[in-house]
Amino acid sequence: MEKVLIVTGGSRGIGAATALLAAEQGYAVCVNYLHNQAAAENIVHRIKAMGTDAIAVAADVASETAVNHLFEVVDNQLGQVTTLVNNAGILEQQMRVEQMDADRLNRIFAANVFGSFFCSREAIKRMSTKQGGTGGAIVNVSSVASRLGAPGEYVDYAASKGAIDAMTIGLSKEIADEGIRVNAVRPGFIYTDIHTSGGEPNRVERFKDLLPMKRGGQAREVAHAILWLLSDQASYTTGTFIDVAGGK
Ligand code: NAP
Repeated sequence: MEKVLIVTGGSRGIGAATALLAAEQGYAVCVNYLHNQAAAENIVHRIKAMGTDAIAVAADVASETAVNHLFEVVDNQLGQVTTLVNNAGILEQQMRVEQMDADRLNRIFAANVFGSFFCSREAIKRMSTKQGGTGGAIVNVSSVASRLGAPGEYVDYAASKGAIDAMTIGLSKEIADEGIRVNAVRPGFIYTDIHTSGGEPNRVERFKDLLPMKRGGQAREVAHAILWLLSDQASYTTGTFIDVAGGK
């Protein structure tokens, strides 16, 4: 059976690295994105050049309607989804908790938490052996922020990743006997664009000497952990976490 992967936020950073590595391993890939169509199409182009099927689909994972549409497009254009990486995530300008308003909290939790719930729900409907599916695997992209807390930067973001950790544990148990494994990776300080959203593009450089390995990580190093968790090599692994954080 063909391996079909949906990577949310697959146009840039960790999601793009995951989409490319998956294609190298024979997956057909749906590259989901929010706004940056050119970046998404570039990843699709690079995947197709490997001789693998790929599509780019714009959908805001925070929107239930958009997520439903995303999965319908994959049904029609790529085939039965077998794997999902809940990677899309956002953070906002660094600030203390007493400065955070409801709009910001809603945006963070909608994208980072609700998005993973919506996508997992649609994946389960298609993968669950109790609903006529043939099983599958889900990997959530959490963060070491869930245990470090990101004080003075974005405690809201860290809390949203704490929610993802709890969701990973609960969902993995809920569907363990339906042929679906659910795991998470917790990246540390990885060179991507996300730090620009926090107002500090060079954040990894600031932290790197404080890390046990004394360097930041590359998106592809995270992708390797994700692809292992998706693979049959991880067939008895569910409800667990791989920290990809240079020892932090
Ligand atoms: P990034 O470089 O900022 O890329 C974010 C990706 O998510 C882009 O493809 C973006 O699409 C997409 N996206 C954003 N909001 C979306 C939404 N509402 N719906 C659909 N797609 C959306 O981020 P990254 O650093 O690779 O982070 C990926 C994941 O790793 C996130 O969950 C993040 O929290 C986690 N993480 C990152 C680090 C790190 O140091 N980089 C550390 C720990 C955890 P567009 O291209 O269209 O904007």
